[in-house]
Amino acid sequence: MAASSAVATEQPVEKFRKDYKEPDYWVRNVDLLIQIHDGQTTVRGKLSAERRKGAQESATLRLDAEDVEVVSVLLNGKELSSSDYHFPEKDVLEIKCGLPDKFELETVVKIKPEDNTQLSGLYKSSSMYCTQCEAEGFRRITPMLDRPDVMAKYKVRIEADQKSCPVLLSNGNLVSKGEMGEGRHFAEWEDPFPKPSYLFAVVAGDLGSIKDTFTTRSGRKVALEIFSEHANVDQLDWAMQSLKDSMKWDEERFGLEYDLDIYNIVAVNDFNMGAMENKGLNVFNTACVLAKPSTATDSDYERVQGVIAHEYFHNWTGNRVTCRDWFQLTLKEGLTVFRDQQFSADMTSEAVKRIEDVRILRAAQFPQDDSPMAHPIRPESYIAMDNFYTATVYNKGAEVIGMYQTLLGKEGFRKGMDLYFKRHDGTAVTCDDFRAAMADANGVDLEQFERWYTQAGTPTVEAKASYSADKQRFELVLSQSCGPSPGQPTKQPYHIPVRVGLIGKDGKDLVPERVLELKEASQTFVFEGVKEEPVVSLLRGFSAPVNVKLPRSDEELAFLMANDQDSFNRWEAGQELFTRSILANVKAFQDGKDMELPQVIVDAAKRTLLLEDIDKSLQAYALTLPSLLTLGAKMDVIDPDALVAACKFVKESMAKKLRAEFETAYKSNQLPSEPFRNDADAVGRRRIKNVCLDYLMALKEDKYTKLCLDQALQSTAMTDLVAATSLLAGSSDEAARKQALENFYEKHAKGNDLILCKWFTMQAMADVTTSLSDVGALLQHPDFSLKNPNKCRSVIGAFAGNMKHFHAADGSGYRWLTDRILDIDKMNPQMSARLVSSFSTFRRYDQKRQALIKAELERLIATSGLSRDAYEIASKSLK
Ligand code: ZN
Repeated sequence: MAASSAVATEQPVEKFRKDYKEPDYWVRNVDLLIQIHDGQTTVRGKLSAERRKGAQESATLRLDAEDVEVVSVLLNGKELSSSDYHFPEKDVLEIKCGLPDKFELETVVKIKPEDNTQLSGLYKSSSMYCTQCEAEGFRRITPMLDRPDVMAKYKVRIEADQKSCPVLLSNGNLVSKGEMGEGRHFAEWEDPFPKPSYLFAVVAGDLGSIKDTFTTRSGRKVALEIFSEHANVDQLDWAMQSLKDSMKWDEERFGLEYDLDIYNIVAVNDFNMGAMENKGLNVFNTACVLAKPSTATDSDYERVQGVIAHEYFHNWTGNRVTCRDWFQLTLKEGLTVFRDQQFSADMTSEAVKRIEDVRILRAAQFPQDDSPMAHPIRPESYIAMDNFYTATVYNKGAEVIGMYQTLLGKEGFRKGMDLYFKRHDGTAVTCDDFRAAMADANGVDLEQFERWYTQAGTPTVEAKASYSADKQRFELVLSQSCGPSPGQPTKQPYHIPVRVGLIGKDGKDLVPERVLELKEASQTFVFEGVKEEPVVSLLRGFSAPVNVKLPRSDEELAFLMANDQDSFNRWEAGQELFTRSILANVKAFQDGKDMELPQVIVDAAKRTLLLEDIDKSLQAYALTLPSLLTLGAKMDVIDPDALVAACKFVKESMAKKLRAEFETAYKSNQLPSEPFRNDADAVGRRRIKNVCLDYLMALKEDKYTKLCLDQALQSTAMTDLVAATSLLAGSSDEAARKQALENFYEKHAKGNDLILCKWFTMQAMADVTTSLSDVGALLQHPDFSLKNPNKCRSVIGAFAGNMKHFHAADGSGYRWLTDRILDIDKMNPQMSARLVSSFSTFRRYDQKRQALIKAELERLIATSGLSRDAYEIASKSLK
């Protein structure tokens, strides 16, 4: 008997993409017996394996095995003596004796799901057992070649107590179930599709469910079932509707049908990420699946719809065609995010969805691309793979996929997808294979496009325009550049699709819109037959993940904001106007001068507010200031105090000038509380109404505090409750603040973990003098638990996003975060490493703050027993 983790902690090892090699052995079948007992679970794993053709006969079999206690090892049914296998390094079980070409290797191990606080492998969440195997969690269940290019067929028998675990689930089809006596029962599942180990899943527990069916277009009837704790079964309908919508959409848009007779989804309370696409058995964070009108906000509804779609779409982009190695993660994630974005756009509004996606990209990915943690969407190395489930791999990865579609057109993109599946169905491939399918299906050269996969950093596209009235010719000189990133001092030019429109004085396009292909460092594009000097609308629809530089006046921006036929660029022009004014006021604040709000901005905002036939969501986003993180990314040195002050000033000045308009818009967008609606119009009305309330609250007048308090106390829609209570959580009116927060807790949050998280977040994000002591107190709250990732994120993660108080000049916020990271790291390294990344952008702040954060990063690294996950982020951030 030997524990695989007996070897002491070693220096973390970095893995490199260039070192990829096929394994010496393939595992073709996995036959598992999982015997769950309270306090201890036994797993017997039988692997049918064969030596790879061309591999050395003497090659040993090295199985991944982590935190499992090995009881016995059998080769072709015969028990091996303990001298035939050993643990040459941490988390490796090596078979030393000679192996035939084909053989069956069986291991029996013991694991303790109840003690698994990492939430990777088999663990217990509330009263249910569940698994998370991506990226490298399967090895924590049973020894295996735990890598995505090893694809096997799985058979699983689960045995458990009948009373506490009446529901026993795994991937594929249920083949038998029955009672075993002594209060125990079993279920056997078989998945006919070969899959990598990261897609394996098991769930056992006392669950309620809702059921439905979907008939695919070729007539296969699929049984759909969504499970949760009994108490939450009334919050599953929206997820079910979203699932059916996704199944239909993928058939229509990409010709992709579901391929099993069963599709199961399970909601669990403790989950490190959003959700997981295990074949036929998705496991979801409750936050991404539960929704009903009295508990979910409009964004919750949108998130549930998007994540349900995302995991469903993985069945083709991820499961049927998977990744050869983890460096290729964006092959499935970038592509699947792109697919879920397109789906959500079709289900709601294309323009609104595009704005939301770009807002996320700019707030989360652009800063990462400009930090020491910057990495290409296909990273070159990692220490802990879980650290690379990033905004870069996911969101920038999705932008890269979107550029194929912009370059090739929707039809061309579809042809590429078809060829991709034709060539690679059932296999594990690379990003190059995807790019080749796109190129070959369309007969185009996408050689240079590879640089989006190899280079990190956000490029800048600079434009210079000139017009000749005589020749009716317009010329656009586009040049590109991209600053250095870790290990990449210089960059080669990218292949960038730039969608351009030329707008005339009447607001109409003078010539048909074009997609310019910028491939050189600098290139001139000529437009003929342009009858008057145009205003350029550059990068329509945000056709590439780049920053744009183009000199233009505030008046031109206001013109674009009012006239551009591209709704994204109308929004963009407004954002640019806001950004300019806020950054100018940051400067004024720093220089001790008076801050000012230019009249063009007020006029433009007023025009937007008075528009009648505009999509209300677009109206709301047009009036919403860029996020602090997005603005910070535009500053040479981020000055949190000046930035927060400038934003407040702009909001308040705007509210002073447009108070009547904001009030009118607030009132006219009220909805009756019954019946609850979440159609685009209702969502848009709530959105614009709450933007107006935000402006009015900036005035700090009793009248508006009262209005806000009324909303906080009386609303029935969760969106309105959260909006009003959050505003009051940041109010200096102590009495109103207290009343609103207490009301929200007592009437809504108490007893509902997801709503509690909202209550935690609004306090952790609030800009009040007591912010730091408030979050300290929240940690002691009886409803808080450091073991639950959603709660950690809602207090600790949220505070790390509190621009002013996390970045308090005395370093108190930084010290506090480090202490929390160290507490969490002992339990859940994935979670602690996420929190460390809040420090990654530290070089963007002033010298004093840099020194304070640097000291915290060094304190982390010096801590003995720090996880490799946290170590990787801390050490790379310091480079
Ligand atoms: Zn995914």
